[in-house]
Amino acid sequence: MNSVKVKSPGTVANLVCGFDILGLALSEPYDVMELTLLNEPKVIIRNKDNFNLPTEAEKNVAGVVLLSVMERMNNTIGFEVVIEKHIKPGSGIGSSAASAAGAAVAANHLLGNIFSSDEVVQFAMNGEKLASGVKHADNIAPCILGGVSLIRSIHPLDIISVPSPDMFVTVVHPQIEVRTSDARQILRQQVLLKDAIKQWGNIAGLIAGFMKNDYELIGRSLEDVIIEPVRSILIPGFHEVKEKCKGAGALGGGISGSGPSIFMLSKEEATARQVEKVMKEVYDKIGIDYNTYVTTINRKGVEVVA
Ligand code: ADP
Repeated sequence: MNSVKVKSPGTVANLVCGFDILGLALSEPYDVMELTLLNEPKVIIRNKDNFNLPTEAEKNVAGVVLLSVMERMNNTIGFEVVIEKHIKPGSGIGSSAASAAGAAVAANHLLGNIFSSDEVVQFAMNGEKLASGVKHADNIAPCILGGVSLIRSIHPLDIISVPSPDMFVTVVHPQIEVRTSDARQILRQQVLLKDAIKQWGNIAGLIAGFMKNDYELIGRSLEDVIIEPVRSILIPGFHEVKEKCKGAGALGGGISGSGPSIFMLSKEEATARQVEKVMKEVYDKIGIDYNTYVTTINRKGVEVVA
């Protein structure tokens, strides 16, 4: 076997109060990637979509990941990857992470799963470094593992899969550009103790809510007093969307990744669809184009399909 096809899902990172430490995988959208093992040390990238992403291996997150695997194998092998991207780059739902994680999982599969899941995450994080300048794992980990991931620490890597009840996720991607670097730069470097206390209460509440299948507790804990008040300035309509979605019955939600996408969690599918309607109404009124998804938490992560 020298070829494999994988589905690599979108992800929501920065789960409201869980900035940089919590993420979850989505059932939709997902990218499809086909990886072939070569017997010479080179990485070839072919894009099967209209996003015009770089085909130079050093400039494409999938390429960077595959180069790092190739190097670890002492440059005895190479890869060709065909990427069919459905997750729009820069959307805030883990487009770069899907390419990075998909490449790492597919490469490990072709090599006979010789790397541990932590090592696969480490390879994939090389791709995130290219996309955003920092090696973060809050998209990568749920993309690879599925479900909800807690990144307790990056150095050393300590990832915990958090059990969670079934929920519906509604995402709206307003078609505006929020540069990840801008979204990071505007953050304050200092936090007041009273805000920190609220935030860690909410993080603990959210984790407890996930583990106890307590939807009410999940809803109460989906509050961010540190990042959201600053970052939401970059997303027109954010507060109106949030307020109206909660009015429509959503448990809660917030900015997905560094935006501009906004996500909301709901217990029932009918609520999630009502939430989508509300999101559409707000952006129709403001006059900004958008995409929406009504989906579920993906439990499998990157999946080998052929
Ligand atoms: P998202 O917020 O959806 O994860 P990012 O902002 O993290 O998107 O990443 C998108 C950036 O990474 C863009 O600048 C894009 O050009 C670059 N990039 C390079 N290779 C890829 C790839 N294979 N998939 C997605 N983005 C890529």
